[in-house]
Amino acid sequence: MIQKPRGTMDILPKDSKKWEFIEKAARKVCKKRGFGEIRFPTFEETCLFSRGVGDTTDVVQKEMYTFIDRDGTSYSLRPEGTASVARSVIENGLAGDTMPLKLFYIINCFRHERPQAGRYREFYQFGAELFGATTPTADTELISLADDFLKELGITNTSLHINSIGCPSCRPQYKAALVEYFSANQDELCDTCKSRLLSNPLRILDCKSPICSKIAADAPKTIDSLCTECSEHFEGLKARLDAIGIKYEVDSHIVRGLDYYSRTVFEFISEGIGAQSTVCGGGRYDGLVKQIGGPELAGIGFAAGINRLILTMENGSAYKEEESSVPLYIAALGEKASVKATEICALLRNEGISAETDIVGRSLKAQMKYANKINAQNTLIVGDGELESGKAQLRNMQNGEQSEISLSDINELINILK
Ligand code: ATP
Ligand code: MG
Repeated sequence: MIQKPRGTMDILPKDSKKWEFIEKAARKVCKKRGFGEIRFPTFEETCLFSRGVGDTTDVVQKEMYTFIDRDGTSYSLRPEGTASVARSVIENGLAGDTMPLKLFYIINCFRHERPQAGRYREFYQFGAELFGATTPTADTELISLADDFLKELGITNTSLHINSIGCPSCRPQYKAALVEYFSANQDELCDTCKSRLLSNPLRILDCKSPICSKIAADAPKTIDSLCTECSEHFEGLKARLDAIGIKYEVDSHIVRGLDYYSRTVFEFISEGIGAQSTVCGGGRYDGLVKQIGGPELAGIGFAAGINRLILTMENGSAYKEEESSVPLYIAALGEKASVKATEICALLRNEGISAETDIVGRSLKAQMKYANKINAQNTLIVGDGELESGKAQLRNMQNGEQSEISLSDINELINILK
């Protein structure tokens, strides 16, 4: 038996409706705010991610699917979307367009992680990126997009955590204070955090190990060492979130450890789906575009994990499963009737009406049983007699009512089914 790769999933028709519901909600909230959809390659040159995600991150160090292709180039399956979007913005010259530039995507991503509930090796993200705007209004716009999206899904058990991690002018002092603080407890830190102390000390703040998080609880907070500009920016964001009624919690443990991230970082955290509870994460990355070879261009974005949203939606949401049904099933008896039924189905489908007939070669009894199974709202039985008279009985399966319809003038049938 060949099985799917570990940490991947098959999404079957009964479940894909839920996915469609989520994607529809994403497109709706993006349209309201003028975000256009971008699609980009599933794989990119590996160096895009080492520079654009950061080569001190877990994603790049341990989780990427990297391969050398037949031409000897190192490629990686995308572990996220932001770096690719930034690459595309530069490559297509969009940085010269009228700003702001507002983009969204719905993609699959790949990370070689230990599979568990809410953590997969192939997973899906809805993400949005906003370029060319540094104001707190831009940050608000993006957070409100994510908030609106969750509301559209009917997800209410999430809380928004925000933080500011400063900018290249105020972060060095903060980083120094942080390294000093953690150095005092160096021996107790987990092995990963011991190495983070040198490479990426901010990331120790969001380490999930109990000991590290206990030590991190009393660590200096970024918001206490922000420069005036960063502090005003953060206050500006909070004032706007207050103004539009989006509740938040300032959480000093939300960080993005890389130098091209700046100021606002945020996460929407869900209750009741276990340890993998961040359904949406984002932040400002004013240095990213330049970092991967583009011009100076501010950016802010988020990505929501669709798989985790689905888990969240299990506990009550706006999604209602609708029983599927077909307006018409035509049972056909004999070769000539089958040709007629095929013709009627085609004519109805041209009018946008769903219709089905037997394609398996079943008996009349078995065809009627099948009509029940697919929840046909109406059935039509066509045999030699019906072909001769040119008339057939349309049966409404809900109330059992029958009406005679013409097999030659399809309009009658169209009017009833529409
Ligand atoms: P985590 O701390 O859970 O590993 P992350 O910081 O690696 O998350 P991001 O890179 O910010 O995650 O990705 C954005 C969102 O994508 C996450 O908030 C989460 O909902 C989802 N996500 C990330 N990794 C996975 C995964 N392996 N499986 C399913 N969803 C994921
Ligand atoms: Mg991760």
